[in-house]
This record gives sequence, structure tokens and C-alpha cells, in this order.
Amino acid sequence: MTDRYAVFGNPIAQTKSPKLHTAFAEQFGEDMSYEAWEIEAGGFEEAVHAFIEHGGQGLNVTAPFKVEAEAMADDSRESAAICGAANCLKFEDGRIIAENFDGIGLVRDIRRNLGVDPKGKRVLIAGAGGAARGALEPLIEAGVAEIVIANRSVERAQEVAGLLGPRGSITACGYEALEPGFDILLNGTSASLAGAAPPIPGVAFVGAELAYDLAYGKGLTPFLAQAKEYRARQIADGVGMLVEQAAEAFHWWRGKWPETSALIAELTVPLE
Ligand code: NDP
Repeated sequence: MTDRYAVFGNPIAQTKSPKLHTAFAEQFGEDMSYEAWEIEAGGFEEAVHAFIEHGGQGLNVTAPFKVEAEAMADDSRESAAICGAANCLKFEDGRIIAENFDGIGLVRDIRRNLGVDPKGKRVLIAGAGGAARGALEPLIEAGVAEIVIANRSVERAQEVAGLLGPRGSITACGYEALEPGFDILLNGTSASLAGAAPPIPGVAFVGAELAYDLAYGKGLTPFLAQAKEYRARQIADGVGMLVEQAAEAFHWWRGKWPETSALIAELTVPLE
């Protein structure tokens, strides 16, 4: 019988997940289907159980259901438990297992595809929402020396900085306090989606090895334009993170590592 997978979200029309997982399945001739379901507010948990009853093996979860997905799981893997949000579920032996591959995909993209080793690096994360939370544990796991979280609401940044407890050096501040000395700058705000940039002082980009906007498909965002102006050595957007988190999910479900470079190239919008 064909194994069923899907992505749940609202809205869902924009999702690239069916394209990615269908392409991965074709690489190995896997007998699986992948659907996109738009779920009404309040109907997430019921829809998950209905999907399981009809043969569902696993789910990707996108906004606004990531927190609900983690909360309803019987077992949460570390990256999902720390940020209290899941972007992937697996149904096994009557249990729902939650994972969050967003940050893992981000680190995989930075290391494998962009050739930047996070080990020993000083990292700025702009923003304190779901994407910033998800990036923390994988970055610490990759051996970064220090993470600074800057956010408009400093209180929110402080809350996120405390998520890992004493593990790693993670501090929080407002944008005005930022100084030069970062190796990697990550834009984890949603500013690019509105054609804006977080208020990072230009000097913070000076000498940086990589400036990375987690948003994708927007071309040269104001954040990336600023990084270019202040001569960050490499700029990238989140298309690689998107494809790599999908590859991680596929591997978790099917035990096989798909090839990702052709899909990243196909989905890339030039940064000019
Ligand atoms: P959230 O809504 O959870 O968080 C948004 C954050 O952005 C908050 O910290 C908010 O600050 C900040 N923010 C919003 N507008 C501005 C602005 N104009 N200036 C400064 N800060 C601003 O969003 P997510 O964490 O879910 O998503 C963040 C980004 O990551 C999006 O661009 C999204 O597309 C991207 N993303 C990419 C993925 C990928 O696979 N490539 C996966 C997941 C997310 P405050 O707290 O002060 O309001």
C-alpha cells in the first residue's frame, strides 16, 4: 500500500513541501504520496488523528500549527522540545513523535552547501520568533563559540536566550547595542517578508564571513543588500534551509538521504 504523507498549515497554497518530497521519492522509487491540507483554526488535532486513521505515516507542519503539533505529541525530540514547536511528525507504533528540522536544515545548509563551518564562530541572530528558537540548539550542537540574539522586544530576546539554560554562551540585547565582530549574521526576523530590514547597525556586518536571510524567494532583501554594502564575504537566503529541512524529514521517515542540490538550484531566486 502506498505510504501517505502530507503538510498541514493555513494558508497552504504557498508550500513547496509536496514538490520537494515528490522529487525525493522519485530519486529512490519510493511508494509514497504527499498531499497539502489546509486546516481550519481549532481543527488541527482532529485532522492529525483523521490522517493517521487513513494510513498517514508522517506530517510536515507549518504556520500556525507548529506549537500545537509539539504539544500533542507523545514524544518530542530535543530540537522540538527546546523550542516548544514541531515542523515534522512521525507516527510509529501508535505514538506521535515530534521533531523540528528548521534549525537543523539551516546548519546543514550553512556547513554543506555554503562551506562555512559554524564551529568556534560568533553568531548574531536577529529576531526572537519561532525560526530563531529553532536555530539555537543546532547552532550550539555545531560548536559555535557565542550567540547574540537581538530583537526589537529585548524581553522576548532574553526569554529565547534562556531556553538552553547553561548550555553555550547565549546573550540577548537590543539592536542599538550591536558592535562589529560577528562571523555569521542570521536574519531570523520576518522583516524581509514586508520588504524591510531589522535595524542592525551597518558596522555589525564588517568582517563577517556570512550574512544569511532565513526568508527565501525574495531575491536581494534589504538585509542582504545591507550585508553587501558593508562587505560581508558571502550572502545567502533560506532556500537551502527549506530544502535541507525537507531532506532531514525525508531521511527521518524513509531512512534515505536525498540529493538536494538540483532542487536548491531550481528554487533559487538570484540575489541581485
Ligand atoms: P515569527 O513571527 O515567529 O517571528 C518574527 C520575528 O521578527 C519577531 O522576533 C519580530 O520581532 C521580528 N520582526 C518582524 N518584523 C520586524 C521588523 N520590521 N524589524 C525587526 N524585527 C522584526 O516568525 P518566524 O520565526 O516563523 O519566521 C521568521 C523568518 O524566518 C521569516 O522570514 C520566515 O519566512 C523565515 N523562515 C524560513 C524557513 C526556511 O525554511 N527557510 C523556515 C521558517 C521560517 P518582535 O518580537 O520585536 O516583534
